[in-house]
Amino acid sequence: MKKTPFVTLEQVQAIARDIPTPFHLYDEAGIRQNARALRDAFAWNPGFREYFAVKATPNPHILSILKEEGCGCDCATYTELLLAKACGFAGKDIMFSSNVTPEADMRKAFELNAYINLDDASHAEFLLQTCGGVPESICCRYNPGGSFSCGNTIMDMPRDAKYGMTEDQMAGVFSRMMTLGVREFGIHALLVSNAVGNEYYPEVAAKLFHLAVRLRNATGAKISFVNLSGGVGVDYRPEQPKCDIHAVGDAVRQKYEQILVPAGMGDVAIYTELGRFMLAPYGHLIAKVLHQKHIYKTYIGLDACAADLMRPAIYGAYHHITVLGKEDALLDHVYDVTGGLCENNDKFAIDRSLPGIEIGDYLAIHDTGAHGHSMGYNYNGKLRSAEVLLCADGSHRLIRRAETPRDYFSTLDCTGFRFED
Ligand SMILES: *Cc1c(COP(=O)(O)O)cnc(C)c1O
Repeated sequence: MKKTPFVTLEQVQAIARDIPTPFHLYDEAGIRQNARALRDAFAWNPGFREYFAVKATPNPHILSILKEEGCGCDCATYTELLLAKACGFAGKDIMFSSNVTPEADMRKAFELNAYINLDDASHAEFLLQTCGGVPESICCRYNPGGSFSCGNTIMDMPRDAKYGMTEDQMAGVFSRMMTLGVREFGIHALLVSNAVGNEYYPEVAAKLFHLAVRLRNATGAKISFVNLSGGVGVDYRPEQPKCDIHAVGDAVRQKYEQILVPAGMGDVAIYTELGRFMLAPYGHLIAKVLHQKHIYKTYIGLDACAADLMRPAIYGAYHHITVLGKEDALLDHVYDVTGGLCENNDKFAIDRSLPGIEIGDYLAIHDTGAHGHSMGYNYNGKLRSAEVLLCADGSHRLIRRAETPRDYFSTLDCTGFRFED
């Protein structure tokens, strides 16, 4: 399907008069509509809740929109917990799914009364020692080992993943925690990332539902929720299928009715921890063409670089590009679209068919709303870009300013040096 940006050239020109490019632009209307579609898709489950994976887009204005839509949030670190707290998430609005967890992080999650999702069996004693007690409910992260296949496709290798624990370890943690007074349990697994199509959630749900029944039978534990975590993908490429979240919700319901209901577990709540699905399509990285060079290939040089969007450089990830104002033009040129890092992998696109591009054109790089700005870094002294919200009423709002050189130097010991701008 043709991918169209959620802004026009005229809108971007108006924003750029206020806020220089590059910037990440988020579409409030799209974020809300999608969050509602997810909620509708799981409305059959009264306890359903999405805990947005904060790492995908850690901006309090975005988190607040999702909070208004009924979402909780999923944090993995101390700083993410602080961010969640500042947005007004409290107690069971917060899922804490960490790994290699420092003491201070565990203590903060406990203090906030968040759901704690243990990554390892040894973390049960670690929690007890660092926090001096246990919460009322505990979640355990499952690693089934082997390979994970969906249909006939092997999607990932849980046996090579550092996350989670074995079934026996989970049973051990449940039993131990019950003796310490924990009353309710959750189970969690994240087995793939960016699964396209509709099959992943029903598959992982079936696996976790069977596991929930076995653990309940083995330990007598009350399992109150199953956390399907994240991993639902988006159609980065125009030819990829778009996830039909209603079909996904319905397929999960069928598994629930086949597996949990007959086991007398029809009161289990479904939680999700989606990041990419919630935000990726509702962000564009907006950049301007600074230079064009012709050597053995033709290069389009942007004011944005891999420090603003790392995915193409580190995973060769595809991000669709629209030249704003040329949406319907023929794709009769082939370009490499690059940033200015002194790293040859700083390319947003390689051999991409695009319309003829001129210096000064604005480009929308699609699907950057999750794992975009948040993966940014400062290599080469590149300053991290601004984030702008395109509000539902069509106005725009700066929700994070661009960094300045002063920000870049602010963590240095500046004794004896003077930095002038
Ligand atoms: C990254 C992450 C997610 C979100 O993953 P997406 O692929 O963005 O949906 C959810 N839960 C945990 C624990 C994660 O680490």
